[in-house]
Parts: sequence; C-alpha cells; structure tokens
Amino acid sequence: MTTQEIIAQEHEYIMQTYKRFPIVMTRGEGVRVWDNDGKCYLDFLAGIAVNALGYNHPIIRETIHKQADGLIHTSNLFYTQNQIELAKLMTEHSGMGRAFYCNSGAEANEGAFKLARKWGKGRFEILTALQSFHGRTLATITATGQTKYQDGFAPLMPGFRYVPFNDLEAVRQNIRPDTVAIMLEAVQGEGGIQVATPGYLEGVAALCHEHNILLLFDEVQAGMGRTGKLFAFQHFNVQPDIITTAKGLGAGFPIGMMLARREVADAFEFGNHASTFGGGEFVCGVALAFVNLLLHDGLLDHVVKMGEQLLSKLRGLQAKYPNAIADARGLGLMAGLQFRDAIPAADVGAALREHGLLTATAGGNVVRFVPPLVIQPADIEEAIAILDKTIGNLA
Ligand SMILES: *Cc1c(COP(=O)(O)O)cnc(C)c1O
Repeated sequence: MTTQEIIAQEHEYIMQTYKRFPIVMTRGEGVRVWDNDGKCYLDFLAGIAVNALGYNHPIIRETIHKQADGLIHTSNLFYTQNQIELAKLMTEHSGMGRAFYCNSGAEANEGAFKLARKWGKGRFEILTALQSFHGRTLATITATGQTKYQDGFAPLMPGFRYVPFNDLEAVRQNIRPDTVAIMLEAVQGEGGIQVATPGYLEGVAALCHEHNILLLFDEVQAGMGRTGKLFAFQHFNVQPDIITTAKGLGAGFPIGMMLARREVADAFEFGNHASTFGGGEFVCGVALAFVNLLLHDGLLDHVVKMGEQLLSKLRGLQAKYPNAIADARGLGLMAGLQFRDAIPAADVGAALREHGLLTATAGGNVVRFVPPLVIQPADIEEAIAILDKTIGNLA
C-alpha cells in the first residue's frame, strides 16, 4: 500500500484516538528508522521510551529466534522458568521482595493500587502529584494529576488526591487518616521531564515512615536504565514499598511488572490479583535478555555518559537561543527542552521530523528526548546539529 492509502484506511478503520504524524514506518536498524517512502530518521523517541536497544538488536533477535522454538504462553496455572529468573534479577537489583507480571504500565499501576488498598486494611486513599502521568485506565487516569486525561470520563475512581510535585509541605498537609500510599515519578515524563528536587523524595519517604504510608514509585518511563540507574529512584536516598515498570522492560515487547517489598507483597493472597497474559515465557525471555545486558554489560554507565553529553549540548543550545528555549533539563537519557510559549513544542517536533530527527513532546511546551540507550556520541552530535539548524530557522 502507498503511504496515502495506509493513512486513508487508518482514518476509516481505526478508532480515532491517536493524532499520528503523517509517516508510515516500515523498518529500523540501530537508532534509525525508515518510512514507507525511504526517508531515514534518527530516533530520539524510541517508541516512546520503549525501544531501549533500538531496532533489530542482535541479542534481542537471537533471543526471539531461540524462543520461537520454545513456549510462547502457558498461563499462570503452571510454573515456567524465565519469569522466575527475571523476577529474581529484578528484585535483587531493586531491594524488593516479590514481583507481579502484567502487560503494560497502566496495568502495573492498577495492581499497585489494589495491593496498597489490600495492605491498608480499610485505608484506601492514594496521593499523587499534579502533572503526573500514570496511564489510561479509569483508575490510572484518576491517579494522573492532569484533568485533560479525565475530562468526559466521570465518575472517576474514588480515593485519589493530588499534591503539587516537589512540594514536601503539601504532602505533609494532605496526609489524612484514610491515606494509605503516595505514588510519584522520580522524574515526571509526560508532565514535562521534571526531576525530583534534592531532598524532596527523602522527605516524602520520611513522612511515609512516620505515618505508616506506602511509598510507590511509577518507574514505567524513568525505569529500566533510562536515567542511568536501573530505577530513577535509585539516584535518591529512598527505599520504596512498591515499584511499577513497563515501557523499556521488554525492549519493544509488551510487558509490565509490579515489584513490592515482601511484607507488602504478602498482603495479596491466592486469587487476589491475576493477568492472563502476565509473565508469558516468551516475553519474559526477551526481557530477561535485555535486563541481563543492562545490568552486566556496562550499559548503565554508557547511559550516564551519553546523558551527560546530551544535556550539556542541550544547555549549549539554550545558551545560544535564549529567546526560544526557556530551559534544558533531564536525568540520563530522559531529557527535555522547554520552549517559550510563542514557539509550540509540537511545531518544533514537526520541523525536526522534516530534518530527519524524531522526538516526542511533553507537558509544559517541552520537546522530549528519550533515545535508545545504545545511542552513540556521533548520534548525539547529529541530533544536536539538526536541532541547531531547526531552532535557528524558528527563532
Ligand atoms: C507510559 C506511562 C504509563 C502508562 O503505561 P502504558 O503501558 O501506556 O499503560 C504509566 N506511567 C508512566 C510514568 C508512563 O510514562
């Protein structure tokens, strides 16, 4: 089919929930992806922070081929080996006790809410941050502190309340007898690449301890090496009770996970929670290959180095174009340029695509950079050159 035919048929047959870029993707290799008309893009979007190893990575390809001869799915009525190995690895490297498998970030967060309520024995209220993002199911849009995701879907789920991010006093003032947990992103992704300020998360953790409240980290976007550590909270001196993750975990395959301290996890009894597809042997095998590579092949150090290079170059652009760029910020390979209001981030993104660079946008007029973790210095140079040219034309 031609590009125009595919786009026309999408408009006809797919529910119109996504405002897509007018590009049909056909193939990828490394950190580059090609469209139906043969145009090549340098990919700093990576399937929205999903394609941690880029496209067609040899280890992932090899794993898929090997696994194709084995089991795809058997259900959680049986034991399978990959899900055990992956859970062991993830718990050991996060200080958690047990894992629960699911298939997406929203589903992981739903599980976290259920576990917190079950553990709370009647306490049910969960605090979340304004400008947070936790998913698109009814409970997770309620948890998301942004009305644009909630409008039209009332009544929302009871039991959620919001506090401004990076405001410790607001957390202290909003803890009530019914409060059982607080869920935060250590680095807000969709909200505009907002990094927790020094002392904030530690202060929240102390309040949680004082009031016997669970500390939940939504690591769906910032986790799995994105910030240079396995989980973003590990940049801070805190130990959570529950962690949720998904996006990068399967290096492109859909898999989600909730991790909890053993005492918390054990609030779930047989039959309390389930997912038909959760923890399938095939997808866990792929995730296991990725996590082994992430933890044992120096990839986290690489992310730290690349992240420093990216952020320093973005700050250079901010210094060069102060009338266009209001801020440059990030942690590891999760970075953003906040543009001034007169220059919509979406327009910048469109111009960048014209010049062959893929980026995402985020709240607060931010162009977001979440490239594959395997990005190289030359790729960053190339992206910065495209940004320089594009912003030069806009400003
Ligand atoms: C993307 C995202 C989610 C939702 O994940 P899905 O897999 O789309 O359900 C939840 N939390 C955060 C922080 C995210 O970035």
